Amino acid sequence: MSGKSLSNSLNSRRLLVSVHDVAPVFESEIDRLIERVGAACGPLPPALLVVPHHWASSPIVHGSAFAAKLRRWSDAGSEIFVHGWTHRDESDHGGRLDRWRAARMTAGEGEFLGLSREVARERMGAGRDLIEDITGKHVAGFIAPAWLYGDGAHAALKDLDFRLAEDHLRVWNPSTGAVHAKGPVITWATRSRVRLGLSLAAASVLRRALVRARTVRVAVHPGDAHSRAACASIDATLRVLSRGRPPARYADLAPPCQDGAASVRPAVVEPA
Ligand SMILES: [Zn+2]
Repeated sequence: MSGKSLSNSLNSRRLLVSVHDVAPVFESEIDRLIERVGAACGPLPPALLVVPHHWASSPIVHGSAFAAKLRRWSDAGSEIFVHGWTHRDESDHGGRLDRWRAARMTAGEGEFLGLSREVARERMGAGRDLIEDITGKHVAGFIAPAWLYGDGAHAALKDLDFRLAEDHLRVWNPSTGAVHAKGPVITWATRSRVRLGLSLAAASVLRRALVRARTVRVAVHPGDAHSRAACASIDATLRVLSRGRPPARYADLAPPCQDGAASVRPAVVEPA
């Protein structure tokens, strides 16, 4: 590879970092994670995934100190995603696959896995309205809790014209179906010693395996802030992956059109 093409290749690499479960109940953990990520990645702040009414007990209230903080994070450059409404899965899953996903892939947190199209649309819309009223800006998109989407959630994303969503394996535009990035997200699970051990091992493998990938996603959660091992693994992962790969914004995957709306064409399509 020539020096010039190598340079172009490096320039096109992106590191997308997100902090999940932004809610008043986790304020101190979110502060610590933003600081931690910033120390490794520099001045571009991480994307924030905001839960408007976490577990129906930690509401974000317009005019509150937390709402003011959310606006400051947004003003400082964080992309803000709607991340469910309560984050809690209260659906009665009829299908065997959904029952397995709800039980194995999350601890009752897959709120949008079993919702009807109407309920999903209502909660997505309410979350978007609340957050946009607080920040004064459009949200970047919607990301379902635990990255789990049912048929109703997929339909509601299109109904509401969200331009970005992601799951464990891809980032896509729900309005057009265009896939903007492929590849596993690196994340940590701290709710049991076994899951923590597995996620530490996975992060160690993935940060090496993905070192040449164009777009790499790293996602951290409030529980990580309480685990010394998870924090060390996050630091190591960001240190390795940020070499030659500037931290980027999800919006960089789909640059805006001249009219200011998000692009409807796949600006970046990852090779399979
Ligand atoms: Zn979450």
